[in-house]
Amino acid sequence: MNNNMKISPSLFAADIFDLKSQIEILERNKVDLLHIDVMDGNFVSRMAFGAEHIQMIKKHTEIPLDVHLMVKHPERHISDILEAGADIITVHQESTTCLYHCLEMIRKKGRMAGVVLSPATSVQNIKYVLSLIDMVLIMTVNPGEKNQVFLFDMINKIKEVSELLENKNIDIEVDGSIDDKTAILCQSAGANIFVSGGYIFNNDIEQQIIKLQHALKIKNKI
Ligand code: ZN
Repeated sequence: MNNNMKISPSLFAADIFDLKSQIEILERNKVDLLHIDVMDGNFVSRMAFGAEHIQMIKKHTEIPLDVHLMVKHPERHISDILEAGADIITVHQESTTCLYHCLEMIRKKGRMAGVVLSPATSVQNIKYVLSLIDMVLIMTVNPGEKNQVFLFDMINKIKEVSELLENKNIDIEVDGSIDDKTAILCQSAGANIFVSGGYIFNNDIEQQIIKLQHALKIKNKI
């Protein structure tokens, strides 16, 4: 279990017209990562954030960008996303027939690479790419939709991934309906990076981050 706990607020839930000031609040509260969902309207039904947006965000913040690709054929987009300034790129196992190649593309540029597992995807699918990843992202809802119910079955999956990774220096990230309660359950199972969207952005952002940091026993670094 990686004990370096991190919060990665998901900009998909942010107010796009107020993004700059919202990111400033996140910076003030020293969040560790910014989670950016790239959606193509094909792998998932919604569309969100492309390489141009990532490039704009990169210009305005020092917070490392944690980019989650929810696109078909990610191998066609990875170069642009790397060029735009992504620090971490995670790729869905279900989205490509050349996962190994995708991860190599990211690693070759010196960025961090990860595999995403949708809820029904078996943990065994990451067994042969462990040497190429820095992170496993476990979806705790179905990808691509807002306001979904947390899938409690995923707690066992986090445990299973945690056991598979043993003492490897690989982060376990969780994404989907993460609040101060579900985060604790995921943390106990072995997760150490927490993507949170609506919980943070639909309320007082600063208060929500402090609540999440408190639940996860992360010291607010202000
Ligand atoms: Zn995501």
